[in-house]
Amino acid sequence: MSASIPERILEVRHQISLFEKKYRRPSGSVKLLAVSKTQPQENIIQAIECGQKAFGENYTQEAEKKILALAAYDLEWHFIGPIQSNKTKTIASLFDWVHSIDRSKIARRLSEQRPSHLPPLKILLQVNLDSESSKAGVALSGLEKLAHDLKDLNNIEFAGLMAIPAPGKDIQAQRASFRLLAQARDNLQRQGFNSCQHLSMGMSSDKEAAIAEGSTIVRIGTDIFGPRN
Ligand SMILES: *Cc1c(COP(=O)(O)O)cnc(C)c1O
Repeated sequence: MSASIPERILEVRHQISLFEKKYRRPSGSVKLLAVSKTQPQENIIQAIECGQKAFGENYTQEAEKKILALAAYDLEWHFIGPIQSNKTKTIASLFDWVHSIDRSKIARRLSEQRPSHLPPLKILLQVNLDSESSKAGVALSGLEKLAHDLKDLNNIEFAGLMAIPAPGKDIQAQRASFRLLAQARDNLQRQGFNSCQHLSMGMSSDKEAAIAEGSTIVRIGTDIFGPRN
């Protein structure tokens, strides 16, 4: 594909609005997170110039450089990668959202290390829908306990759930996975976790299935910036 970043962003926005209509989702209910890992600053600036504000990063060191260099812009930064506990301080001070929480120790450190002049860090619990032991994420069976563990943490806000289902499924199988996450969110709301609203689900190759099942944040890298090397 040789389209430019601005053309690709317009195309992704167009797809999102078509899928919102097709699956009777309210217009504007799906937020586009541009996944900018491995992308140089120039590419991020091209996206910013198209009005993109929310960016996702996976690697703390790489993200720190970009966030500081782009501080003049009014952006929203989302951490979406695996978290080592020695990186929580940097993450707590630079990011607005963290999608990849799967243990209470990390959530506790982020809450303790969140600078007091910033609003609470919005966090999403990452769920392992395929129960492969090698993958990140809390099992569905452990989700409620983890949610309870967050209750006394004052500087984080439990904003929802995130998942990365196994790739290579057809759209029906993708929808079945994403439906599990939506049901888990609904269950938590019934248990009184009212702030648990968001579903971070859908990437370049499965965004239609995710939007069909209620995604509120799609995390798109390749379809915006092209293949990563
Ligand atoms: C890299 C990444 C994405 C983006 O994936 P694409 O297939 O390039 O759209 C989304 N979510 C997470 C957690 C990622 O690491």
